[in-house]
Amino acid sequence: MLTHRLDAKLLKTKEAYLNKLKMMGIKTLRDLLLYFPRAHRNEQEFRKINELRTDEVNVLEVTIRSFLTLPTRSGKTVTRAVVFDSTGELPVMWFNQGHLKEMYFKGSKVILTGKVKFERARLQMMSPKIEKAAGEHIHTGRIVPVYPESEPITSQWLRTKIHHFLPYAKFFDELLPEALLLRQKLMGMVEAVEQIHFPKDEALLTRAKARLAFEELFVIQFLAQRRKWRWQRGFVRGQNGLHPQEGLTWDLKPREDFNSLTSPGMGDFLKALPFELTGAQKRTLEEIFSDLRRDFPMLRLVQGDVGAGKTAVAAAVIFAMIRSGFQTALMAPTEILARQHFKSLTSLFARFGMNVQLLVGSLSASERDAVLVQLATGTCDLVIGTHAVIQDGVQFSRLGLAVIDEQHRFGVKQRALLKARGSPHMLNLSATPIPRTLALTIYGDQDLSILDELPPGRTPIVTRLVPESKRIDAYLWTADQIAKGRQVFIVCPLIEESEALQVRAATLEYERLQRDVFPSQRLALLHGRMPAEEKDQVMKAFSDGVIDVLVSTSVIEVGIDVPNATIMMIEGADRFGLSQLHQFRGRVGRGAHQSYCFLFTDSNSEEALQRLKYMTQYASGFDLAEMDLKLRGPGEIYGVKQSGVPDLKMASFGDHELLNRARAEAQLLLEEDLELNNTPLLKDYVNTVEAGFELGEMA
Ligand code: ADP
Ligand code: MG
Repeated sequence: MLTHRLDAKLLKTKEAYLNKLKMMGIKTLRDLLLYFPRAHRNEQEFRKINELRTDEVNVLEVTIRSFLTLPTRSGKTVTRAVVFDSTGELPVMWFNQGHLKEMYFKGSKVILTGKVKFERARLQMMSPKIEKAAGEHIHTGRIVPVYPESEPITSQWLRTKIHHFLPYAKFFDELLPEALLLRQKLMGMVEAVEQIHFPKDEALLTRAKARLAFEELFVIQFLAQRRKWRWQRGFVRGQNGLHPQEGLTWDLKPREDFNSLTSPGMGDFLKALPFELTGAQKRTLEEIFSDLRRDFPMLRLVQGDVGAGKTAVAAAVIFAMIRSGFQTALMAPTEILARQHFKSLTSLFARFGMNVQLLVGSLSASERDAVLVQLATGTCDLVIGTHAVIQDGVQFSRLGLAVIDEQHRFGVKQRALLKARGSPHMLNLSATPIPRTLALTIYGDQDLSILDELPPGRTPIVTRLVPESKRIDAYLWTADQIAKGRQVFIVCPLIEESEALQVRAATLEYERLQRDVFPSQRLALLHGRMPAEEKDQVMKAFSDGVIDVLVSTSVIEVGIDVPNATIMMIEGADRFGLSQLHQFRGRVGRGAHQSYCFLFTDSNSEEALQRLKYMTQYASGFDLAEMDLKLRGPGEIYGVKQSGVPDLKMASFGDHELLNRARAEAQLLLEEDLELNNTPLLKDYVNTVEAGFELGEMA
């Protein structure tokens, strides 16, 4: 019954309405009933005429004393009524509502909802909503659902139709197991649908929302965790459900004296570090080690702000795995980053006699062959590189761990490729902090560690929103800093329409700066249309200090470490999200000198300025990401389609408590009934959702 297609006859409506409904995604009775209100107006509290308030909407139950519609001089109509209750009487007025006279007469009992104001020293109600008091009223005098409207479909129209069809809500399937409903004290589906539209009271409305939101989060969490489970157990999809992969033998556990941060073997490593690990680094490492001790591969994401020390965490795990007799790999999204890691890790690991090799696209054929031989024979302990590391033809002798820096820059395929190389432990690193709730949703198929503590002794970056009148001063001050030996990034505005336009704008800005602002300084330009080789050259020159000012589009490489760069200027800052601004800012503040971030904008929008102000107030990427999420919603920030951020109808990413409950229940069900054979309706639904959107596309 619920899958019944809506047609004009059933709805008693015009084709135009029907077409619009289709565009709104409402094609069946089920869709209509699942079209939830965007808000509710509580008009439950009735007032008497002698209790009317001019500062609020009033709801009255009254009787009509007189009712009269007259034409005005300008050809419109005005309807005047006098209504009364036990406490007094009240004049009411509507404009151009001539049809009312067909429905309401002297003696009709009605409910009025509206504002009152003084008119010639008397209170008068202006254009209230009116509805008959007899029977069930749906537009007034209750908790009224307010629906998202779309010309010509009004909230009132939807309210009428949904109310009419609401009895069919009883045909909704209950997807959630009974025991779960009881444990979580959740309302049944039928009642939830009824109450979300026409709630009896606030408490029931709250429970209806919670139930619907829970189900949404639960399904997402179930899918994400099932995916993780399948990956970890090396299950493959067979014809009759899932079977363990045949002939799978997997043992990549670290040796006992290297399987925890406090194991005796780890002492050498900790001593070799030039610093003490932060609390967050230690906690994250213990989480990682407990993964390594299990009977299946680790799949963990470490999120931490730029400079939080993710490399040291990775290095500790790499060390433990090499000492346990495994090979390890570290992949970075660009060659520059790979080379940077290679430099720092070679010097760290060389003292232990570990063999570290670099594998990138620019190696000569013979250099590459030499590395491949060492990998295949097992003499290379750690290979650092780009995608090249998992390309065809690269054979490992015993790969135990793959670390992926800036994991969001890699595709899904990389997991499959790694799986084919013996399902090593996977450690993903990301410097793009996103709120935990969102991370658990997008990356729900990975375990999550958060490095939310910066190593001690960092001087915070001074961030300023620079008004146009101070632009020259900012340039002069910057020139002075350059004279003192510092380096500068200048990011040009984002132009979403076309990359070509953006490149052009950056080129013009670069020319202007070189000509008019920094004529005696060494400037260079960096943008996405440049060949990779040229980009690398520019970055290298900047990194070597041969360039003073790097003018760039928004493509500046992530993770690049130029300690001598201390000024980050961002033009058109309002066009970037907070998280991205924070990423830019993270390019500076990496050395001993005080660093600065200058934001420029030509926007006068209050909202944009407020957003930029947060940049000057917050230093933590997690705080800024939470802010961004609140201000703009996940779709804006992460791009709903590409990033796998599901479009939530009822739930919100801010609801930590509900998310944790949904997650725990999903885990429980997963352990009991992986394939959902005991709950066939849920099974169908979950499989449909899974087919519809490939969760974790990014991972
Ligand atoms: P990211 O998380 O951005 O990859 P890195 O691993 O590059 O950060 O670390 C940034 C800098 O902080 C490096 O110079 C590193 O040596 C240093 N560092 C890392 N951990 C600590 C620590 N616990 N105490 C002091 N310095 C640290
Ligand atoms: Mg890093």
